[in-house]
Amino acid sequence: MVAEGVEFRVNHVVGPAPLGAGNAAAQTVDPSRLLEDFDAVVLAGGAEQPRDLPVPGRELDGVHLAMDFLPLQNRRVAGDGGVPELWAKDKRVVVIGGGDTGSDCVGTSNRHGARSVTQLELLPMPPDPERNPAWPYWPTRLRTSSSHEEGCERDWSIATKAFVGGKEDRVTAVKVVRLEWKSGKPAEVPGSEFTLPADLVLLAMGFVSPWASVLESFGVERDARGNAKAATDGAGSYATSVPKVFAAGDMRRGQSLVVWAIREGRQCARAVDEFLTGTSDLPR
Ligand SMILES: Cc1cc2nc3c(=O)[nH]c(=O)nc-3n(C[C@H](O)[C@H](O)[C@H](O)COP(=O)(O)OP(=O)(O)OC[C@H]3O[C@@H](n4cnc5c(N)ncnc54)[C@H](O)[C@@H]3O)c2cc1C
Repeated sequence: MVAEGVEFRVNHVVGPAPLGAGNAAAQTVDPSRLLEDFDAVVLAGGAEQPRDLPVPGRELDGVHLAMDFLPLQNRRVAGDGGVPELWAKDKRVVVIGGGDTGSDCVGTSNRHGARSVTQLELLPMPPDPERNPAWPYWPTRLRTSSSHEEGCERDWSIATKAFVGGKEDRVTAVKVVRLEWKSGKPAEVPGSEFTLPADLVLLAMGFVSPWASVLESFGVERDARGNAKAATDGAGSYATSVPKVFAAGDMRRGQSLVVWAIREGRQCARAVDEFLTGTSDLPR
């Protein structure tokens, strides 16, 4: 890509965005400069705004968002210097959130040498893979990753009530309660509260949307879920409400999968090519 003439500027954050997972940028770029200097702009900044858990004790030391923890390991493996010292070694780790990001937290904590790893999920335990709901229902199934197989206690239908602090405002435990789900709605089971000891809590409850500030700084219209609003088909595909500004990947569709990001990136490239030259030979 460099040989083709692409100029990469790393460590630059566009707009007033809070710094995201992979972006430890020191330098900022004013969106209006991009609009002045370039004929097309593609917003492909991902959907990095995490779902938080604003319960008492959230501010305690040792309670971290998953993406404050996971990328550090990628940076260590890549040989980066100056990586913050946040480790699970010898700690009782509680991972809140039963999805893929939670599974990554389980695996990384085990590889760090955690003393124990417990993963909690708000929703009920999904059905056994052998007893999948029939089409057209979404195949919600219990998934056990290699991370779980390396060691993890898992519990479902659990709501977190509070984080308990000890000396120097460090987390020492998580207060939780069991839930009963009826007609898709949760109710706390009276008397079911219990406390789990914890030295490190990782919040992995999914991602809400892209950082709103990036889209706002371009004046781009957002859809009901807060993503950049742009269609994928027809005339003006991948174009946002702002002339010459396009959006693709998680920033357009919300937190998703790499395969979708690749597909959207390719289709968006074709849409931009058509916009700039009136035609395109690129695949769709
Ligand atoms: C923990 C975790 C595990 C995952 N595991 C899988 C998996 O196993 N398989 C799978 O298919 N998908 C997985 N996903 C989802 C997958 O990573 C995303 O769907 C995919 O990376 C989206 O690609 P993207 O290019 O749209 O955005 P991203 O890959 O999120 O890239 C966005 C980039 O933009 C940068 N950026 C954001 N804002 C700005 C700004 N204002 N200025 C400059 N730069 C900015 C970010 O730093 C980032 O580098 C996982 C996601 C997470 C969080």
